[in-house]
This record gives sequence, C-alpha cells and structure tokens, in this order.
Amino acid sequence: DVRHGPILYLEDVSVSFDGFQAINKLNLTIDDGELRCIIGPNGAGKTTMMDTITGKTRPDSGQVWFGSRHNLLRMSEPEIATLGIGRKFQKPTVFEALTVIENLELAMAADKRVLPSLTARLSSEQRDRIHEVVRLIGLKPAAHGLAGILSHGQKQWLEIGMLLMQRPRLLLVDEPVAGMTEQEMELTADLLTRLAGKGRQSVVVVEHDMGFVRSIARQVTVLHQGSVLAEGTMDQVSSDPRVVEVYLGE
Ligand code: ADP
Repeated sequence: DVRHGPILYLEDVSVSFDGFQAINKLNLTIDDGELRCIIGPNGAGKTTMMDTITGKTRPDSGQVWFGSRHNLLRMSEPEIATLGIGRKFQKPTVFEALTVIENLELAMAADKRVLPSLTARLSSEQRDRIHEVVRLIGLKPAAHGLAGILSHGQKQWLEIGMLLMQRPRLLLVDEPVAGMTEQEMELTADLLTRLAGKGRQSVVVVEHDMGFVRSIARQVTVLHQGSVLAEGTMDQVSSDPRVVEVYLGE
C-alpha cells in the first residue's frame, strides 16, 4: 500500500489566544515518508502548530488535512489519534518499573488498563512486531531489563518505540535530543532517518539543536511569528538573510 502525495497539509491556518496571533496564515505540506525539521526562535508557534495537528488546539481559520481524505478540523483529538498520528513530547514518559518489552506490550494494548506481561496471550505477529521495534530502537541488549535503569537517551528511544507499536503514519517529535550526549544524538539521528520513508512513516521534528537538524533533515521549515519564514535545505535556510536576522535578534 504505497501512498503518494502529501500526508499532511495545512493551509492558511491561524490560531489566536485572547487576541494574540500565535499562528498566522501558516502553510505547510509534508510528503509521505518525509523527514522534516521545524525550527524557529522561542514563541515562533512550533508547539501551537503541533497542537493544531493533533486536535489539541483549534484554529480560528484555515484547513488541516491528513492525506486527501481526512479533514482534521472535523475530527476530535481522540479520533485524530486513531488515524495514526503519534506524538512524542520532550520528556520521556516510560513506565520505569516495567521492562523494555513490557513497555512495548503496554503500548500495543488497545485497552491501557490491561496489565502488561501478557506475552503468552500475544499473537505471533504481535511478538514479531515487538522484536522488530526493539531492534529498530537499538535496545535489544536491554530488552528484559527495567526501563528505569535506561539512560536518558535510551528512554527517549523506548518512547519512540512505544509510538511505533501502533504503526503510525505520521510521527510528531518534540526536541528529541535535548539533554542527550553526542553519541546518543548520533544514534537518534540514525533512528529518525531510518523511520522515515515511503511505506514507513513521515516524521516531523521540532528541534533547537542546529547541528542535529543539519545531520538529519533534507528539508527544513523556519517558523517566525506564526508563519513560514523560509523553507529549504539547512544550507539554503541558514544563508537566508531573514533567517539570520531572526536568530541574531533572539
Ligand atoms: P514555540 O513552540 O515556537 O516556542 P508556541 O507555539 O509555544 O511557540 O507559542 C507561540 C506564541 O503563542 C507564544 O508567544 C506564546 O506565548 C503564545 N501562546 C502559546 N500558547 C498559549 C496559550 N495557551 N495562551 C496564550 N498564549 C499562548
């Protein structure tokens, strides 16, 4: 089932809070399988944009489409989640008293009240998926250890793995490398790069670390005052005088 064209489409989206314009006629197109970085100074509207995509925040005007069929402005936040849009917040929220595998099992359970460690009841397909994800996130050696003893970086990867259990089509990732060591950052770049691709996921990353952005993104979108200031490769946007001015003024 190979899909083409945009997976996410925002047109002229505006969001205001008590008259303050946080997002101002924002246009954004993310293609199927794309890995896109969103950068911009504090207050540029990055978080509000992510909240608008997941249905947490409602725009005053504009269009938000997932694929060509799903008008997200007509859907509730839980309905949007079922379409396969996974969001990873900056702070990892893994279950520290459970093992890596148990965390992944729990993430797969439709009913979150079901206790994990139900491996015996998992289908072979589900077990295969768990092992596939454990390998993908590089936690095979730690699979049966408690999540609580993982490093900060490993916890971030586990949380990405938990999102992957639902086979999302779009992953929204908020500042994945904050607090990571250089080596963890390299492994994260490698992981995000492998996740994106046609038939896999599209990945949208909000990130402040420019070195990291340069290492992963083919396409970068610069937000400023709630609109797109520049779009292109990191080399293109970082040599754009308007972008330089915005960052120098921060
Ligand atoms: P970023 O994530 O790029 O730092 P945000 O989306 O968090 O930017 O914020 C954009 C602007 O909207 C900021 O000026 C912020 O103060 C304002 N803002 C965000 N959320 C709210 C809210 N719930 N109420 C009022 N103002 C808000």
